[in-house]
Amino acid sequence: STPIATFCALLRAARMGLLVKGGDVLEALSRVKVVAFDKTGTITRGEFTVKEFRVLNSDISLQTLLYWVSSVESKSSHPMASAMVEYARSNSVEPKPDDVSEFLIFPGEGIFGRIDGKDIYVGNKRIVARASSGKVPSMEGLEGVTIGYLVYGRELVAVFTLSDLCRTGSKEAIRKLKSLGIKSVMLTGDSTTAANFTQNQLNNALEEIHAELLPADKVRVINDLKSRVGPAMMVGDGMNDAPALAAANVGISMGVSGSAVATETSHITLMSNDIRRIPQAIRLARQTHLTVL
Ligand code: ADP
Ligand code: MG
Repeated sequence: STPIATFCALLRAARMGLLVKGGDVLEALSRVKVVAFDKTGTITRGEFTVKEFRVLNSDISLQTLLYWVSSVESKSSHPMASAMVEYARSNSVEPKPDDVSEFLIFPGEGIFGRIDGKDIYVGNKRIVARASSGKVPSMEGLEGVTIGYLVYGRELVAVFTLSDLCRTGSKEAIRKLKSLGIKSVMLTGDSTTAANFTQNQLNNALEEIHAELLPADKVRVINDLKSRVGPAMMVGDGMNDAPALAAANVGISMGVSGSAVATETSHITLMSNDIRRIPQAIRLARQTHLTVL
């Protein structure tokens, strides 16, 4: 493309709220055939509400459990973390991040913290397998779709459920991409149940769903899409998305709520968090690219 045409297109993209890191990215954008969306915080708002908190060990009070969870979560920037902190406060428990002496993140699984000399793990069923003797009991009749587990020492002591909603523009963005001949798929570290719940909210607009993925699994799916479908875009917000953002032909991070690692690894930052800008940007990139053909 001519330098002037590229410059104008980059400016227009910036006005739409997309920070594009250079003209090469614009060209890659014009060739995209498939878009892989992360679920939590990308297709959905990443604003969780705690639906239920079930204590499994009656020797430990709800207050103590909430103090553990919220203190450890207050060290995390995951979308679920602020929901747990809020939930604790609504139960008159104040999180104490300073009481957490050690903190670790397991991307796609959850977190670990040591508090009052106790080992606390919070996350999905993978974290239970990591921390405890492994068996995850089935949790029939729980309200809410994303299930979180709390492990103390090696014992599963509580389960909780959360819900999140789709962003307003998600359905429209997927529809617009389809009209451009582009396939939309979802990659998530969350459970299959939660992934299907989101797919239902989208009236089954996504052509593929891949759930329960670790960061490296997201990379594997991106590489597979590249060889099966063609040039692939990845859109994500979390640190667990960073390797996939780098592996994609175009990686887009969420500007407002995204983690710093995701922003650094991506080729484009979506400042508005509005994913409807993505099909618009592809159209713009195609027009720019066409002018030199
Ligand atoms: P997604 O790929 O949909 O954005 P993530 O990979 O961020 O989801 O997270 C995958 C799963 O790991 C979450 O659904 C959650 O169960 C668990 N998880 C990750 N971080 C945390 C955390 N800070 N607290 C509790 N659970 C977490
Ligand atoms: Mg995410």
